[in-house]
Amino acid sequence: MGAVKFINHPDSVWAATANRRSELPSLKGDIDTEVAIIGGGYSGLSTAHHLSKSGIDCVIIEANDVGWGASGRNGGMAVLRYKMGYSALVTQYGDEIAARLYQLILDAVDTLESTVRDYHIDCDFARYGHITAANGHKNLAMLEADVAWLSRNRKDHAVSMLDRDQMLKQVGTSVYPGGYLDPRSAGIHPLNYARGLAAGLSNKGIPIYVGSPVSSIKREAADITLTTHAGRVRAKKLVIATNAYTDLRQLGVNLSRRIIPVSTSVLTTASLSPALASQILSAGHLVTDTRHLVNYFRMLPGNRLLYGGRGDITGKESLDIYQGLYRMLGKTFPSLSEVAIEFRWSGKVAVTMDDFPHFGCLEDRIFYAIGYGGRGVALTNLLGKLLAGLVQGESIDAGPLNSSRFGPIPFHRWRIPGMQAIAGYYWLLDKLER
Ligand SMILES: Cc1cc2nc3c(=O)[nH]c(=O)nc-3n(C[C@H](O)[C@H](O)[C@H](O)COP(=O)(O)OP(=O)(O)OC[C@H]3O[C@@H](n4cnc5c(N)ncnc54)[C@H](O)[C@@H]3O)c2cc1C
Repeated sequence: MGAVKFINHPDSVWAATANRRSELPSLKGDIDTEVAIIGGGYSGLSTAHHLSKSGIDCVIIEANDVGWGASGRNGGMAVLRYKMGYSALVTQYGDEIAARLYQLILDAVDTLESTVRDYHIDCDFARYGHITAANGHKNLAMLEADVAWLSRNRKDHAVSMLDRDQMLKQVGTSVYPGGYLDPRSAGIHPLNYARGLAAGLSNKGIPIYVGSPVSSIKREAADITLTTHAGRVRAKKLVIATNAYTDLRQLGVNLSRRIIPVSTSVLTTASLSPALASQILSAGHLVTDTRHLVNYFRMLPGNRLLYGGRGDITGKESLDIYQGLYRMLGKTFPSLSEVAIEFRWSGKVAVTMDDFPHFGCLEDRIFYAIGYGGRGVALTNLLGKLLAGLVQGESIDAGPLNSSRFGPIPFHRWRIPGMQAIAGYYWLLDKLER
């Protein structure tokens, strides 16, 4: 097989420590299939996995490499919460829908785990536990209300609150007055998960074409034809799984206006000395805080700390953003205020108006799953499963995750100045939070 050309993965800790990629071809010539899937991230791979379990013929077409998008560059945290906490969900949607959403997120992490098991994926999957760290006392009270609702309404006693002293012991910082610990949340090596799942699907005979950007989508009476630079796929149905990297307007698919792609950036430190490392995340938990401009961090093998947060609104790589992130890292862990940084990279998440991802049927025979924000590691596995059911004609009730509330975002063309204004406002709110 000749070398396939695509844009390389960013220079991340994940790319530097990943298992070898399977040699996958680019699309050459014409092929027929039942379901064509555009996008070789978790959404596309998961949909293919669940379609294949039902014996449905499908192919994946990826512009770059498997996991090249957010799926190969994220924090690897499969968190058992949505962006909005359970008490806020109850206020906004009522008890019944909050209970359904709770069941769905448990299912999302279980589906990730069973997929890892089904394909024996070597991606360091473990239930490390995740702490939602409160930025101020108002957020702390909201987290306490979540614990109370889970215990009272779902008889779920697995989660617990940590006070400032426990946070200091387990996280290694005193900046948070407390946190919410769910020991069932999981962590993975994100690129190895994408690569392992792709290898498993490919071994099962599911074609995956890389280095093959789809440049046109043509609807005909019975088929949909996708064109790439060197081939064509004729399918009965199409799944769009391009998330924040969706730019299909010129192909006549208008999903872009329903999401806002937002950058998030990540640093990883050089190996910390055993003495320093022993003071930080001593129990191995993953952490996300409750800021509007969220920060997230975890310890990686070799005592490297991964620290992520806000990226550049315009999506450009910017030194300022990395410097800002470095200052936040130093504020969170003063002992690391002069630590050496080994890797830094950015990627895009897709934000929606209601902070939920959505899946559905865009028009006759064209399906999608999109808009995970920073919560796609678990939820892509769930939406891939639900979408595979929808493609087969099942009717699926996933509450707010269904497509019915998912319309174009008003004033979408002003999204960059709009997001800049919102980011400034959020920065102020986060600062004022006590
Ligand atoms: C830095 C970062 C940190 C994150 N951390 C976390 C975390 O810790 N926990 C969490 O839950 N979530 C996190 N996320 C979010 C999570 O990674 C995403 O929600 C998830 O990976 C989305 O997967 P996807 O398959 O839908 O999209 P992607 O993985 O982005 O895949 C989309 C793919 O579509 C391809 N594509 C686009 N256009 C075309 C075309 N025309 N033809 C063919 N292919 C095309 C792209 O090349 C890309 O590979 C993070 C994201 C980033 C960027």
